[in-house]
Amino acid sequence: MAEATITRIRTATPKRWQSALKRAFDSGITLYQIAGTGEAVVTSQREPGTVYRTDGTICDCAAHMLSGDPVCAHRALFLHSQGLLEFESTPEPEPPASARSVDRLRFGLEQGGNWIADLTARQLRGEAIDIDLIREAYREVGKYAEAVARATASAPRHVASFDAARAA
Ligand SMILES: [Zn+2]
Repeated sequence: MAEATITRIRTATPKRWQSALKRAFDSGITLYQIAGTGEAVVTSQREPGTVYRTDGTICDCAAHMLSGDPVCAHRALFLHSQGLLEFESTPEPEPPASARSVDRLRFGLEQGGNWIADLTARQLRGEAIDIDLIREAYREVGKYAEAVARATASAPRHVASFDAARAA
């Protein structure tokens, strides 16, 4: 790894802090606090037995000492421990997924309804239907109906427009 020899000026960006924190997590480096002084040290990922002192701004590691890089995994971990840097997993733009999940629940409800209709029709034809089966079908429908009601009640706006599109 030739990270320390890169000469172009590196700057602190949210993206670089994020990848530094990810490196910290991935490599399993650990933050310790020195009793007495309260100083924080973070283990080196490349040199076992070595720790770098850091306060989030400076760090004793090569990235800071040699290349003046304002960002490194040690500082990222320190900032994270102070609650100043959160790890943001890639945001997933999932509006269609929500609509899909409501759709899935509605499909389940529909299937349950078909099931009851089928059982009722068979009963009307004089077929002996196990009462437990009928109870199960109603439980199933009740479960889906409840889930659909919950999902649509708490649904964001895109689901409402999805409803409108379906109703149209
Ligand atoms: Zn460092």
